[in-house]
Amino acid sequence: MAGEPQADCLFCKIVAGDVPATVVRETDSVVAFRDINPQAPSHVLVIPKAHYPDAASLAAAEPALAAEVLREAGEVAALERTVDPGYRIVFNTGSGAGQTVFHAHAHILGGRGLAWPPG
Ligand code: IMP
Repeated sequence: MAGEPQADCLFCKIVAGDVPATVVRETDSVVAFRDINPQAPSHVLVIPKAHYPDAASLAAAEPALAAEVLREAGEVAALERTVDPGYRIVFNTGSGAGQTVFHAHAHILGGRGLAWPPG
């Protein structure tokens, strides 16, 4: 069923506490934790606790939960003090765009200059 935990999903295991993570924020519906392979001085992932394979399927099924992920992204940036001069929110969607974990997640990157266009 949509949103239900998946036994083979790494981020569902983090939500369940079966895989350790450095959690920086948590609400009833989302959790934010440090990326294990940071690409910037501040690199935090914000995920819904419910399992959806990517951001688009999350937003289609539960728009309020997708909004909560974005709201938390802003809270993380404030906590990490990356709001000024700026930070980046990235949702890699599909393997061709670099998605490797198929549980919706926002990357919150900051603490260095971020070039555009991205690679
Ligand atoms: P994606 O490539 O956009 O799917 O992002 C997945 C991210 O998860 C990558 O940046 C990985 O470094 C990160 N990652 C993989 N395993 C773990 C973990 O166990 N803890 C925290 N981050 C992880």
